[in-house]
Amino acid sequence: FPDIVETIKATETLVREGHIASKEQYEAGSAPGSLHLHFLPFKQGMLYVGNSEPLSEADLDLARSMANSFSVAYDRYEDFKKLEEAKQQIEEAFSHLEAAQDQLVHAEKMASLGELTAGIAHEIQNPLNFVNNFSEVSAELIEEAEKELLSGDIEGTKEVLRDLIENLNRITHHGRRADAIVKGMLQHSRSGSGEKELTDINALCDEYLRLAYHGIKAREKGFNASYELDLGPDLPKIKVVPQDIGRVLLNLINNAFQAVSGVENGKVSIFTRTLKDKIEVTIADNGHGIPEEIKDKIFQPFFTTKATGQGTGLGLSLSYDIVKAHGGDINVHSKEGEGCTFSLYFPVHE
Ligand code: ADP
Repeated sequence: FPDIVETIKATETLVREGHIASKEQYEAGSAPGSLHLHFLPFKQGMLYVGNSEPLSEADLDLARSMANSFSVAYDRYEDFKKLEEAKQQIEEAFSHLEAAQDQLVHAEKMASLGELTAGIAHEIQNPLNFVNNFSEVSAELIEEAEKELLSGDIEGTKEVLRDLIENLNRITHHGRRADAIVKGMLQHSRSGSGEKELTDINALCDEYLRLAYHGIKAREKGFNASYELDLGPDLPKIKVVPQDIGRVLLNLINNAFQAVSGVENGKVSIFTRTLKDKIEVTIADNGHGIPEEIKDKIFQPFFTTKATGQGTGLGLSLSYDIVKAHGGDINVHSKEGEGCTFSLYFPVHE
């Protein structure tokens, strides 16, 4: 009867520690003649108190408040258990989320890699198709010219030769296009390999604005847009790879000049200024602007709205990568028909 042995032991302890007067009060055989039981229900259960005589009102009050305290403590315990469960659930949900996010990032990287490869293949395939087709046609034209020559038709020969020259020009044009795409991609992979050095951004803006302006004037007859340069005084030098930032400026300025080409009173403006712990470079134009529906695409590689040969769609994606690699930011404000403003931000390090 292990229970009885335990009970006897417990009774002895109670006596020893002075909680009860004698063990006879508790032990079987010496039970009181009658036992008054008092039931004190509370929210989660019931406390009952037995005594040889009925409890006084004061003792009952005491027992009631004990039942109450027990009820409150039990409530707290249950709340705590619920909280613990909720915490566990949140932790589990969080780790599921983290795993899902990792998978998403991975999937996104794979997708953009796949997209890029498909983009490259497509972009190069297109000029190559032209080169192949025009070469085949040119070979046929040479045969035709030979026939004309043999039949003594000089005018006919000349005409075929003129077609041939036109064809060869087309081949060169598309060959150059493929060349520009490959060069643009190489710049993508090469950017970031140069050394960072303390650089005067004002001087870079000045240099690349002039370079771009003279470039477009040489390429486009009748180009007559103007430019404006407003360089913030005391602009601190910043640590950047000058060739890379020059590349970014050139891309943005070239885009701006292209956007004002043919626009009446077209103008490209560059401003620089110092903000709290960074510098800001703004390249603005009053050209055709960017329609809302393509705004989120302009930084994608190969996205271009320009005619074949006018753009590869790599300029802004390269610029974005370079700016981000320098810990900077690039953003664009534009409304269709109301010009376009690109802002660059670079941190200033002490
Ligand atoms: P590309 O100039 O070769 O087309 P970019 O990546 O430099 O490639 O630009 C992508 C597209 O963003 C351009 O084709 C053009 O539609 C738009 N864009 C960029 N800059 C401007 C600008 N200043 N004004 C209007 N559109 C612009």
